[in-house]
Amino acid sequence: MSLTAISANLSSTKLILPVAVFGLMLGLTGCNNSSTPAEGVDAEAGTEQSSTEQEVATNDDATAAGGQTVTIYSSRNEQLIKPLLDRYTEQTGVKIELVTDKTGPLMARLQAEGKNTPADMLLTVDAGNLWQAAEQGLLQPVSSTILEANVPAKYRDPKGQWTGLSLRARTIFYDPSKVSADQLSTYADLADPKWKGKLCLRTSKKVYNQSLVASMMEHLGEEKTEQVIRGWVDNLATDVFSDDTNLLEAIAAGQCEVGIANSYYYGRLLDEKPNFPVKIFWANQGTTGTHVNISGAGVVTGSDNPDGALKLMEWLSSDEAQGLYASADKEFPVKAGIDESEMLKSWGPFKQDDISVQKFGELQTKAIQMMDKAGYK
Ligand code: FE
Repeated sequence: MSLTAISANLSSTKLILPVAVFGLMLGLTGCNNSSTPAEGVDAEAGTEQSSTEQEVATNDDATAAGGQTVTIYSSRNEQLIKPLLDRYTEQTGVKIELVTDKTGPLMARLQAEGKNTPADMLLTVDAGNLWQAAEQGLLQPVSSTILEANVPAKYRDPKGQWTGLSLRARTIFYDPSKVSADQLSTYADLADPKWKGKLCLRTSKKVYNQSLVASMMEHLGEEKTEQVIRGWVDNLATDVFSDDTNLLEAIAAGQCEVGIANSYYYGRLLDEKPNFPVKIFWANQGTTGTHVNISGAGVVTGSDNPDGALKLMEWLSSDEAQGLYASADKEFPVKAGIDESEMLKSWGPFKQDDISVQKFGELQTKAIQMMDKAGYK
């Protein structure tokens, strides 16, 4: 793979490599390749695993005519995001430098670098992370009629510091040999004693679960949410998992009967194993709707090229880029009216939770404290 992992300071050790080969991957579901580094761990450079490596890739074959380089600090799976960025370079001539690491280290770097940062854009997952970055002053407000037109307000920061670019549903998965869909209903119902010894959960350290619990706090109130979490913990079939893929495989292996995971992990498993023996269930359809979160981006406060970063963000919200997100990564477009992939369509339509995703950030600290108090590891 045309990537170079470095652990030295980026600004003094930029390694520039031609990566035209990535353009060839556009038609492929690159993230499903079994050689994907993040395979079996996380689609993104997740927040709970530690790593000191930083990966830098530059599409240096781009013509210089397109103007200034846009440097992205990204926690997204490089194989997923690089084809989109290469397409942008092909169309505009704008060179992109992609620095890939976990969200936490990237934010620490932005903090340390301040106005000297080479970064123009932060690209990451989960509104909880983007909200944190904005809280720390790492992102600057932007105003864009294109983003306002393409991205519903509930998936954007009201102050314009970040925007959603794709959607992922965090919902219920089950073993159809032991559970029928009519036994399932809500996230809260998984706290019922009927699921004792049958539930699998990912760790509460993962921001995805912090955001899910934040949404429950908003809908159910704190007292009820704490009861639900205690019920979940009582019902666990085994220790919490470090990632969603292992959790889904545990359901397939009969270790548990139900669990909660992000939809795209399931999609990738189905790509590899079309007969993967786990079914998806859209949670909370009779109540608040299935929990939906974003991947997204913001313009870095210390950016030398904020206009270039904003133009790229606008392009990522375009019909073409939105279609690529949906087909390559099993994510849902954030823009309305974009065709979903055949696999996503096969899961059927569902009602999304209408909550504004900034709430996940606002309630994150409380959610973490509550999960800790309730014994959810
Ligand atoms: Fe993920």
